[in-house]
Amino acid sequence: MKISTPYYLIDEKKLLRNLKIIQQVRRLSGARSVLALKCFSTWSVFALMREYMDGTTSSSLFEARLGFEKFGKETHAYCVGYSEEDIRAVTQFADKIIFNSVSQLDRYYDIAKSAKLGLRVNPGISYSHFDLADPARSYSRLGVVDKAMLAKQIPRLSGLLFHYNCENDDFDAFSRQLDTIGEHYGDLLEKLQWISLGGGLYFTKEGYPVEKFCQKLAEFAKRFDLQVYLEPGESAITGCAELVTRVVDLVQNEIDIAIVDASVEAHMLDLLIYRQAAKLDTGGRGRYRYMVAGRSCLAGDVFGTFQFNEKLEIGSEIRFADAAGYTMVKKNWFNGLKMPAIVVRRLNGTEELVKEFDYTDFINCLS
Ligand SMILES: *Cc1c(COP(=O)(O)O)cnc(C)c1O
Repeated sequence: MKISTPYYLIDEKKLLRNLKIIQQVRRLSGARSVLALKCFSTWSVFALMREYMDGTTSSSLFEARLGFEKFGKETHAYCVGYSEEDIRAVTQFADKIIFNSVSQLDRYYDIAKSAKLGLRVNPGISYSHFDLADPARSYSRLGVVDKAMLAKQIPRLSGLLFHYNCENDDFDAFSRQLDTIGEHYGDLLEKLQWISLGGGLYFTKEGYPVEKFCQKLAEFAKRFDLQVYLEPGESAITGCAELVTRVVDLVQNEIDIAIVDASVEAHMLDLLIYRQAAKLDTGGRGRYRYMVAGRSCLAGDVFGTFQFNEKLEIGSEIRFADAAGYTMVKKNWFNGLKMPAIVVRRLNGTEELVKEFDYTDFINCLS
């Protein structure tokens, strides 16, 4: 089948590699993994993910509902700020509701108490390369800081959420941080049934000491008699998708520039936010050098500068790697550009076009 570009291509075989590591962590450590939908919500591959994961966690009412309807198993609901309407709706399908503050817990306790309740804690430590994504940055609104206030809430709770990592591939740093959490919050954790260690742990990365990680989690769970949860987003889907594009124009301004039929701003927004270049699957070590740019009118809509093995022509295909996490969930209609379709390469190798977007989708998101 010839699929017209641009499209995101999710490869289930590559996804399976990550899922098998998640399953291994579950087996060796007892820690359950719930998918963080804010990173990846492409439900066409949930049938596969469901076999290896324990459910989903969410950042809003709609994500919680998506997890419940399309993934099933455990549905954890977290939101930085629930409205009363949200809480009434979310109690219909969440088995755990995690509040971000004591004031939200107070306000909605009576409505929500049929679910298992949790509170997010800001332990004042974190691992993040970016201030923008650092939950322990100054004045952070993410989680309860005051331990005395937290201690008073324990009778209402069954667990606590600590999300304090972002792309942490350093096991020793993780291990020290977990010790710190045990020391500071151990007396509270002993009275609870579960702890979620959040996302941002890069345990599916090549070379990560998975067995040591599992041992650490198992020891922690045993010491405080807790069910440990992980909330992988990026590490569940890393390396499993590409953004497939084609060159629509070649221009020169001191250097050779290829313009493709997609856009960083609209289709891989995080690269702009975190000022990173896209990655090419081909490695890019050939003799032909091009800056590859998007077709939005934003001057800085640039994927990066790469070395190609052959001269690019109009119609040449360019595939950007690592296009699953924080891409499809953030794609937008800036400039009214054609939104990339979503294609899944199933385990048996067939490519299935699962979603296409057209003019109707564009006009329906505004009025
Ligand atoms: C963002 C987030 C995650 C997922 O983080 P990744 O870095 O994608 O693994 C998990 N839990 C919470 C509470 C989050 O905010």
